[in-house]
This record gives sequence, C-alpha cells and structure tokens, in this order.
Amino acid sequence: MECEKRDSKMGKEMRAERLHCLVVPFPTQGHINPMLQFSKRLQHKGINITLAPTLFIFNNTLKGSYTASSSISIHPISDGHDQGGFAAADNKEEYLEAYKEVGSRTLGELIGELKSKGAPVHCVIYDAFMPWVLDVAKRFGLLGGAFFTMSCAVGNICCHVNQGELKLPLMEGSGEISLPGVTPLQPADFPSFISDFGSYPAFLKMLVDQFSNVKNADWIFCNTIYELEEKGVEWAGKQLPLKTIGPTIPSMYADKRLENDKSYGLSMFQPETDICMKWLSERADGSVVYVSFGSMAEVKEEQMEELASGLKASNYPYLWVVRASEEAKLPRNFAAEKGLVVTWCPQLDVLSHDAIGCFVTHCGWNSTLEALSLGVAMVAIPVWTDQSTNAKYVSSVWGTGLRAHPDNEGIVRKGEVERCLREVMEGDQGKKIKRNTTKWKETIRKASDEDGSSDRNINEFIAKLSQS
Ligand code: UDP
Repeated sequence: MECEKRDSKMGKEMRAERLHCLVVPFPTQGHINPMLQFSKRLQHKGINITLAPTLFIFNNTLKGSYTASSSISIHPISDGHDQGGFAAADNKEEYLEAYKEVGSRTLGELIGELKSKGAPVHCVIYDAFMPWVLDVAKRFGLLGGAFFTMSCAVGNICCHVNQGELKLPLMEGSGEISLPGVTPLQPADFPSFISDFGSYPAFLKMLVDQFSNVKNADWIFCNTIYELEEKGVEWAGKQLPLKTIGPTIPSMYADKRLENDKSYGLSMFQPETDICMKWLSERADGSVVYVSFGSMAEVKEEQMEELASGLKASNYPYLWVVRASEEAKLPRNFAAEKGLVVTWCPQLDVLSHDAIGCFVTHCGWNSTLEALSLGVAMVAIPVWTDQSTNAKYVSSVWGTGLRAHPDNEGIVRKGEVERCLREVMEGDQGKKIKRNTTKWKETIRKASDEDGSSDRNINEFIAKLSQS
C-alpha cells in the first residue's frame, strides 16, 4: 500500500516534470513580483517555467540571485517600445495598443520557437490586464490561466461593472453601496477610476476588459488568500473557475519551503540595502515608522509636506522611501533629523525587521499582502487605483491598520498623520490592531504551507494540468 502510494506520487512527479507553463507578466513592479513568485512555486512543484517579460523590462531590471541561478528560463517578448518601455509611449492607450499588436506577434513566435526546440508549452499563465494573451494561447490550442494581481474584492467590483450591475458614474450622493462578494463600501472606498470617474479612462477600460474573454480561460488565479476574503472568493467561485494562490511573497517570509527564495527577482530599482539594514539595526524594537508609496504612485507635493511635518511632530524614527522621480517634492530644506530617506529599499527585509513599529503605506495590493503576511500594523494613505478599497479592508474588515482621513482637498494633514501614528504605535486601538496582525500572519502562513488553502489549490491545478 505504502509502496503503491509512493509509486503513484512518483508517477505524478515524473509527469509533472514534463509540464511547461509560459508565464507572461504585465510590465510593472507590482505585477512582475507576484507572477514571478507564483512561477517559483510551480517550478518547485516540478513544472518547467518560461517567463516572458517585455524586452525593456528584461534589459532594465536586476535579475536577483534566484532567477539568475534557477532553472526558470527567461525569454522576453516585445511591447513595441524595446528602448524605453511605457515611458517611451505617447500615452497609456498608445502603449497598450502597441503591446497588444507587437506582443501578440512576438508571443506567437516564442510559442512556435519553444515547440521547435522540443520544449512545447502546455499552458500560458498571463496577467489578466492582457486578455489578448489568452487569444494567442487559444490560437495555438493551449490551456490558459488568467492571473489577477489585485484582491478578489477589487476583481469582483470590476466584474460587476463589466456585467452592467454597477452603473457608472456612481450616483451623486450615494451612501453605502452593497455588492455581492464585496464588503459594503462608501463611494470614496471604491477604486479611484470609479470614485473619481473619468480620471483614468484607459485604466478603467483595462480593468473591466480583464473580463472580456475570461470565460475562455481554463483557470483563474487570484493573488489572495481564501481565509482573507472568504465571502468574495465564494461569490467569484460561482462565476469562474477561481483559485486563490496567495500570498505570492518569497517563501522564506511565509512557509519557508523554498529554501533559496529570500527575495523577489527582476527589480526595476536598486535597493539601498546596506544603508537601510545598518540604520535599522541601531534602532530599538518596534520604534520605527516605515513609509513607502510603492513603485508608481505620484504623491502630491502638498501631501509630502504634510507627511514630513507629521513624521517630525510625532517624533518617531522613520525610514521613508522616496523614489528618485519623487525626490524634488520633498519640502525645501528638508532635513531628515530622526529619519532616513532612501530611493528604494528591500521592503520584505525592512518589514520583517524587529525595529519596525508600523507601515505608512499607499496600500498597493502587494504591500498590503506583505504587511498582512509579516504582521505589520498599517497606516493607510491611499493614492489611486485599488488602494482605497484595500485600505477599507485593512481598517474595517481585517482590523490590521487605520485609514488616515484626508480633508476636503484630498490631503491627509499633519495632525491626522500624527494622530494615526500615535494611535497605531501606542494607543488602545494599536493594541487591538497588533492582536489582529498576529492572527492574520499565522492564518496566511498556514494557507501557503503544506495542505493549506493556497497550497491545495496549486496542487489541484497541477493535477488537472497533468490530466489534460
Ligand atoms: N517595494 C520594494 N522596495 C521599496 C518599495 C516597494 O521592494 O522601497 C516592493 C514591495 O515589496 C512590493 C512592490 O514593490 O512588492 C510594490 O507593489 P505594490 O502593489 O505594493 O505597489 P505598486 O508599486 O504596484 O503601486
């Protein structure tokens, strides 16, 4: 019996050895990180992986030790802007059109090339922002899995818009809005392309279009955890073949089953690792406020000034990531007396450092999942896209942070920054928040560990793929 079991397991692994997934990420940091991590997981379970980022991303990122040494092959495709990427395009619409046209062609060529080299692709896993990838996969008769990098709640909202069940723009003066699979939201809690209708038309179209051909996909992967969004996942699971597979953070920060997996790869920015870690090592446990708005958000100059004054007034030591492109917005004569300002940091090393007391964040979905996975209390200052919705879940559903309230001009003022920091670092609410972070951290670790909800979903995907 024991022997039979072992044999059938080996048989499965031998079959899995030959399976080959082609993974196509969208070319921004917040989208590359989760798909690369998912690739590492699949590879660890015996699937061959070819990653197809854009040529611009391939040429302009630090590869990281894992991707450099692992057997994940990287074969770039073209987005039509090989020299400058998105920044070289006239506008977002032009970029997306060029990527679709040139990307479809070069992706088709890559699939053909891999086949002729004796490494045929069985399944294409693509960022749901690019539904055209699924059309290419289906033209070649391949299986396709759409990967949603946002929360299930945000996916559900986009699905309601796509199905015409949420009419836009939202009615003036709408109170709380209840949608199936989404916690009740005030208009301001919706993603910015909905709450501020017309502000990002290309972005709204891209999010809603994720659902345009999704019924043709064989799997839908969502970078979340079942336990975090139970009701949302149950609702979405009735519409689509959904599998939650998060958190897509390096394994050493979660279940520790992938030994070399300590950091992401393909970084578009150079982290100031030594400076950050040395500075943190000289700070007391739980004393530091870590501040970052991720890889894309453009923070208003006035907001930077208020934040700088709030940090100073609160008097906690702080580590603030201000990207090079945002540095000019720092207040004139700004001297980080109690703080350290860097252009990029190794965020996971920072968040898991004992010195960190809380995380002032834009609530990008990766940063939110990272803070939940590592158990760090948050102060949310959302800037755009899905961040307001994530902030709502952090403050009202998971109870792992506070949302700082903006004034009528949309700016979180100095006093509000200071109030939130004091509350989270030392107040009664902060104590409750810390209890919740401990609870979620353990729940999330279990989900990615052997036989946890995400692990089972990944195993089921591989089993189905082997049978097809
Ligand atoms: N990040 C990092 N160093 C920094 C700031 C961010 O490594 O100084 C990483 C962070 O760990 C996360 C990603 O960049 O994985 C940002 O993704 P998120 O979805 O939070 O925000 P986005 O950049 O997409 O707005």
